[in-house]
Amino acid sequence: MAELGVQAKRRRVRRRVGLVAALVLTALEAAVVARRRGSLLGMDTVVRCRDGHLFTTFWVPGGSFKAVRLGWWRLQRCPVGPHWSLVTPVDVASLTAEERDLAAQRHDVRVP
Ligand SMILES: [Zn+2]
Repeated sequence: MAELGVQAKRRRVRRRVGLVAALVLTALEAAVVARRRGSLLGMDTVVRCRDGHLFTTFWVPGGSFKAVRLGWWRLQRCPVGPHWSLVTPVDVASLTAEERDLAAQRHDVRVP
């Protein structure tokens, strides 16, 4: 009986560690993405797909309805292709003015 109690406690601790790890990862993602785009809000984040297309999307750290999360990458519909592709946030400062304009013109649906 005592053994069962210990196992249940271990399970609870493991679940809590998993939750804390998920929160830490989300906070880290928020910090990195915020630094790249210069704001904490998920509106209008410039991303690049695997084919090099630039577009703007709604990127909320830790949550997404229209994309499959793969850590730093997301499997998402590229509106330029149009096709499904892995996308990553782009450092806006590294883009030319032309690239920034292009990305701003192409915005996917405003759903996180
Ligand atoms: Zn694309």
